Amino acid sequence: MLTIAIQKSGRLSEQTINLFRESGINLANGGKEKLKSKATNFPIEFLYMRDDDIPQCVSDQIADLGIVGENVVHEKSFSLSVEERLGFARCRLAIAIPKDMEYKTPQDLQGLNFATSYPKILKNFLDENQIDGTIHEISGSVEIAPSIGMADVIFDIVSTGSTLLHNGLKEVHTVLNSEAVLISNGQLNSNQRSELERLLFRFRAVNKAQNYKYILLNIPNDKIDDICNILPGMKSPTVMPLAKSGWSSMHSVIREDDFWENIENLKAMGAQGILVIPIEKMII
Ligand code: ATP
Ligand code: MG
Repeated sequence: MLTIAIQKSGRLSEQTINLFRESGINLANGGKEKLKSKATNFPIEFLYMRDDDIPQCVSDQIADLGIVGENVVHEKSFSLSVEERLGFARCRLAIAIPKDMEYKTPQDLQGLNFATSYPKILKNFLDENQIDGTIHEISGSVEIAPSIGMADVIFDIVSTGSTLLHNGLKEVHTVLNSEAVLISNGQLNSNQRSELERLLFRFRAVNKAQNYKYILLNIPNDKIDDICNILPGMKSPTVMPLAKSGWSSMHSVIREDDFWENIENLKAMGAQGILVIPIEKMII
């Protein structure tokens, strides 16, 4: 049995629960009413917690594993292993300053007052850059600190930057890039290790599928070789003759990132009737 601490409600919880669901693991109560639940079809027990408490809970071996933002893992600085990067809740911890303030290098931050919810990460950054600064820890609404005279600049989570803009701030230096991670305390027994491997196998199949699409297209037979070069597929594309002579249907897999550029190339080579379909799971 594996015990996993996950966020009860917040920016991580929906995608965390979706990842388990798409991995075929049924969470009995979805975390809404209960603080603890067992999966019905996998040896996992879920603990629903505030994200700030997850690193300690894993470090103290109350949970074997946890899913939390890397930013929180770094701030809490327990000795924990990252078992897998999960690719969601991407954000960064960055310094932001009033939009009219001049900034060229971190040395321009000498002697300033910083407001943040991440004092440890900020202190490490200031120490590494030999910057003298005063840190004011606040637990939320960090962006308003400069406008109310609480601090000169802030160090906070940014995803799109629109909250900063609304508060007359500009981002000048990224200190940490973060995403949701699966953490462990390195104390799993061999049964738990193999359960974790089963879980990671499923997570990877789900995450990989999200980066790829299944593509079907009709192509002139004299272009099969050229198009195979663009669409190498998992081993090689499937090519089947169409009822119309001189034409074939090709099936393959394409990376989401390369998608538009490849579609343009395929059209230029005479491909027609292109269908692109999401993939639910992908096991290579
Ligand atoms: P809790 O009530 O559990 O303490 P919280 O209010 O501290 O929650 P959330 O706002 O739910 O935290 O954010 C959880 C995590 O999601 C953050 O620690 C960070 O890793 C990530 N995150 C935060 N803000 C954003 C954002 N704007 N975009 C993407 N990810 C974000
Ligand atoms: Mg929190």
